[in-house]
Amino acid sequence: MSKKFKRPPLPTKGPNAVWVLLFFLGLGVAYLFWYNSINRDVEHVSYSKLLDQVAQDQIKSIAVQDYTAQGKYRDGRVFNANVAPTERFWSALFDHKVDVEVFPPEKQSWGSMFFLALLPLIFLMLFFYFRQNQGGGGGGGAGKIFSVGKSKAKLFAANQISITFKDVAGVQDAKEDLKEIVDFLKNPAKFERLGAKIPRGVLLSGAPGNGKTLLAKAVAGEASCPFFSISGSDFVEVFVGVGASRVRDLFAQARRQAPCIVFIDEIDAVGRHRGAGLGGGNDEREQTLNQLLTEMDGFSTEHGNVIVLAATNRPDVLDKALLRPGRFDRIIEVPYPDVASRKEILHVHARSVKLAESVDLGKIARGTPGFSGADLANLINEAALLASKLDCEAIEIMHFESARDKILVGGEHKTLMFTKEEKAMTAYHEAGHSLLNLLLPATDPFHKVTIMPRGQTLGVSWSLPEGDKTSQTKTQFTSHIVVALGGLLAEKLVFNEQTAGVSSDLQKASAIARKMVRNFGMSSLGPINYGATYDSFSGKTSERIDAEVEKIISDCYDQGNKLLVENRDKLNLLAQTLIEKETLHAAEVYELLGIPPRETHSLQ
Ligand code: ADP
Ligand code: ZN
Repeated sequence: MSKKFKRPPLPTKGPNAVWVLLFFLGLGVAYLFWYNSINRDVEHVSYSKLLDQVAQDQIKSIAVQDYTAQGKYRDGRVFNANVAPTERFWSALFDHKVDVEVFPPEKQSWGSMFFLALLPLIFLMLFFYFRQNQGGGGGGGAGKIFSVGKSKAKLFAANQISITFKDVAGVQDAKEDLKEIVDFLKNPAKFERLGAKIPRGVLLSGAPGNGKTLLAKAVAGEASCPFFSISGSDFVEVFVGVGASRVRDLFAQARRQAPCIVFIDEIDAVGRHRGAGLGGGNDEREQTLNQLLTEMDGFSTEHGNVIVLAATNRPDVLDKALLRPGRFDRIIEVPYPDVASRKEILHVHARSVKLAESVDLGKIARGTPGFSGADLANLINEAALLASKLDCEAIEIMHFESARDKILVGGEHKTLMFTKEEKAMTAYHEAGHSLLNLLLPATDPFHKVTIMPRGQTLGVSWSLPEGDKTSQTKTQFTSHIVVALGGLLAEKLVFNEQTAGVSSDLQKASAIARKMVRNFGMSSLGPINYGATYDSFSGKTSERIDAEVEKIISDCYDQGNKLLVENRDKLNLLAQTLIEKETLHAAEVYELLGIPPRETHSLQ
């Protein structure tokens, strides 16, 4: 594929737009001056005074148009007045021999009317002109006012991108997953030969500043292909249809550059599930979203090799249609960096500054839980600024400390930075889930455990679902419940206390238990499917169902508690290691606890 780089066609009329606006404004201002100058020496009199003056024979002539009048006194001065053109008025004028002229209404200062009519239009144009220029960044600003339907995407040619995976520290899992996309972009023929499904869209999910944009760019850098970058909010405009046309324009450009990457930041701005917004403006967003879906479906058949990477902090609000196969069917988590990743990120950004020898980046990494990659980059920068302000030879640890405090005060990290106690509590909570997951035979294979904040919940212990859910047994269901209760159990066992963070765990446990009783005949109520709604059974049955659910939960609770008490040493070891390392992968946990890895299902 040729790497020839064509700039997106810029509107050629560019600077003219400004001149046109200035011309109109100038015209308006000139008119106002002219209008004022010819009226400058005119005296304004009230209607009653005018009538008096008429009675006193002071008025020589008068010209009336509608309710306004201009005239001359006998001494030559001119005046104007607002008048009520009544019978009395006219007869007074005629009685006193005033020279009267009457104009038809339309002739009234058409110039000012024209200008006034134009004024809102001019303001509207100015408004858009400035708005477009504000967030602009690249490209020929002024022309954009005449190109509302053109995409605002920034295009980086392949040779403009120097970022590769080496520049993205940590996020090992994400990089691993994205390598496949790089492979595909580099050698699509290989994939097509084997009939492999070609990736279309990948969703990068994680809090701001953790490197989603950086990763997307690195994919383009690794594959050395062009990179289009746009934010979801750039699509949405007040004019209905503009967003959709921008999407169309963007993909038309992208296809011309294929193979290439289209990166849509903040996709939730367009991708919120339809019919969710309040009031107006919704139509526009829905049209934009529909166009995006159409484009993604379109190029799966006609033109390949355009891969859409999108970033969001709120995958939960996205329209499900976006996540269907052939669209954004892969979600890659870009979490807050754990302690090891934080150290790596600090190393990457410390390359360009001078550190004192005593500075231990590992120590700084340990002292910055809850910091995003961007915060860490900022930390180095702030420390460097401070050191140079104080005329130091190199950046010392105290500079880092002040910089950290500054960032903590300014940022929203107070909620993310936990205290020692919170960190310990979270570690035991997650360790509780994980340990029970490992000890029980009928659970999903263990994947990893972390106490790093991720989205709305604090820590998570992940396991991968195995097989399809309809084949689950009663033992599997109860095991799931025990694992879900593990967080709460550990908190109570170790701290004799519990956090509100268990609410979603309990919800999950109760939902499983209820299903077992109501739908799967897995209780002493016997093999009856009571359906999903309350009208399918009597109030008395409902009470019995509740009682059975309670029994299942309480049995599971006892079972989990017993296991944790028996394995308290393992719980402590796991929790303490989590406090130190923040994230542990399955292999590390197996080794740490001396639990043999569960045999995974083999295809042979
Ligand atoms: P996001 O798109 O997730 O909001 P960005 O990719 O824009 O985050 O990251 C902002 C900046 O933070 C980057 O330009 C980089 O300097 C720094 N950064 C974030 N994550 C990392 C990382 N994993 N490695 C190195 N730098 C990072
Ligand atoms: Zn939990």
